[in-house]
Amino acid sequence: MDFSWTEDQLEFRNSVLDFARNELNNDVRGRDSRSEFDAEGWKKCGAFGIQGLPYPTEYGGQGADVLTTVLAMEALGQGSRDNGFLFSLNAHMWAGTTPIARFGNEDQKQRWLPGLCDGSLISGQAITEPDTGSDAYALHTTVKKDGDSFVLNGTKTYATNAPIGDLMVVFASIDRSKGWAGLCAIVVEKGTPGMEVEAHYDKMGLRTSPMSGLSFNDCVVPAENLLGKVGSGMMIFNHSIEWERSCILASAIGTMERKLEECIDYANQREQFGQSIGKFQGVSHKIAEMKTRLETSRLLLYRTAWLRDQGKAKAIDASMVKYYISEALVQTCLDAVQIHGGSGYMTETEVERDVRDALSSKIYSGTSEIQLNVIARHLGL
Ligand SMILES: Cc1cc2nc3c(=O)[nH]c(=O)nc-3n(C[C@H](O)[C@H](O)[C@H](O)COP(=O)(O)OP(=O)(O)OC[C@H]3O[C@@H](n4cnc5c(N)ncnc54)[C@H](O)[C@@H]3O)c2cc1C
Repeated sequence: MDFSWTEDQLEFRNSVLDFARNELNNDVRGRDSRSEFDAEGWKKCGAFGIQGLPYPTEYGGQGADVLTTVLAMEALGQGSRDNGFLFSLNAHMWAGTTPIARFGNEDQKQRWLPGLCDGSLISGQAITEPDTGSDAYALHTTVKKDGDSFVLNGTKTYATNAPIGDLMVVFASIDRSKGWAGLCAIVVEKGTPGMEVEAHYDKMGLRTSPMSGLSFNDCVVPAENLLGKVGSGMMIFNHSIEWERSCILASAIGTMERKLEECIDYANQREQFGQSIGKFQGVSHKIAEMKTRLETSRLLLYRTAWLRDQGKAKAIDASMVKYYISEALVQTCLDAVQIHGGSGYMTETEVERDVRDALSSKIYSGTSEIQLNVIARHLGL
């Protein structure tokens, strides 16, 4: 394992950091209060090449390896304070685009990948239902073959990007008696008759990332939109969730770096009892722990990315990185509020927003408890 970066990688990282600082911080506080997505920022990311980072150049991607991709996502998290926007980007890439890039046939890749890479199309994934979250494969949505089409019926919930999505990768069962072996993954495009996008959910955090439910009432989808084969839905989901768990929190490393810098500045500048608060061990130890959590999280991320580049990453690696970084992120954001005292609790300082945004990282892409179950299972427990 060698984590020394090339000059090109470092130059690229710095260009992403500058881009994020200059282009992805537009009225974050106002948009957070209005739950408003940064559509202009999305287009700018597309032009910069963010959405296409890990996808093949022949389909409009940048062809970057996994380590370079997570390095760039980390820089986005450091440069941009819009965690919701970055979450939408990650959902689009790992949950929406990756299944198409990996399991799409040539026609599907030609049809969708260039737009997904250049920012002209937005995607997401819908597997969660009102009655099935952690137990995702027990889903109730059905899909039936009807001539040259598939017909979907059912309800999805908590679908990130659904209100702004041009296409969603939807999971449904062709035969519930077969359990996971009956699952299918199908791409449903915006405006397909029979698909209704519910009203935008009002969330605690990640408010600039639009989310809603989807309902399917005899929704007729062309058969050519099926990804893989009938019954390969579980394999497709497992593949994309492992990528998602491995990479989705790369931006959180950047967020933790940003929090660390903010807290050091504040602790040096704020004075109580005649000295800067950073001189109190109660404060300085919190910052020392932040730094330690940041570097251990970073190592785990790079190790998993390296394993992915080698084709050696396993489900346990993906779950460890997801579990560890989400817990580290939440603790770091909570400590940042404590260090900022009363001012950290006020919306105008934008310190509290990071806590609201961070908490969801222990829930999406499988809760912390589910990640620990996966890790324990791999240990034979
Ligand atoms: C911000 C955000 C974005 C999301 N985006 C998407 C998306 O784009 N697409 C999508 O399909 N879904 C999405 N989700 C849904 C997410 O995947 C689910 O919320 C998550 O998997 C948990 O399911 P649940 O909410 O039904 O909770 P439940 O499964 O009901 O769990 C409730 C509690 O019980 C615990 N629990 C459940 N089973 C076990 C077990 N076996 N062992 C130990 N504890 C257990 C859980 O850990 C949790 O604490 C998103 C959720 C959030 C918060």
